[in-house]
Amino acid sequence: MSASDAAGTSPGAGARAPRRDPSCLFCRIVAGELSSTKVAEDDLAIAIRDIAPRAPTHILVLPRDHVPSAADLTDADAPLVGRLFALAAEIARSEGIADGGYRIVTNVGTWGGQTVDHLHFHLMGGRAFDWPPG
Ligand code: 5GP
Ligand code: ZN
Repeated sequence: MSASDAAGTSPGAGARAPRRDPSCLFCRIVAGELSSTKVAEDDLAIAIRDIAPRAPTHILVLPRDHVPSAADLTDADAPLVGRLFALAAEIARSEGIADGGYRIVTNVGTWGGQTVDHLHFHLMGGRAFDWPPG
């Protein structure tokens, strides 16, 4: 059994999605095959600046592993989800948007407005946001 099997993270080691999809844009960014402006990273997650920012601060926080969307998360992903939110909060402080408030959003599927099928949280700040979103 390999180390990744032991960690339960390899394809076929359970119901978990593959760690990497070679055709996935964000997997390719995580692997360093495509360039990005990295804001933070750790063993589970990376944060990059959105290529087409819709707010003065617009950062994408995503898992290193390929998880297609929030719809694919399970109880076993609780530590990952905690890390993604903690990292977003840490970045919000370092970007200077924490005091004013900000928005964290993840889009799921076509009607949710998801265009990249690799889980990511949009961390947006530096302006006021409408509710409900359009
Ligand atoms: P979604 O539409 O899936 O919720 O969010 C995808 C986000 O990824 C969009 O805000 C889009 O601007 C951003 N994006 C698309 N391609 C790239 C890229 O190559 N690099 C970066 N940094 N962001 C990207
Ligand atoms: Zn991916």
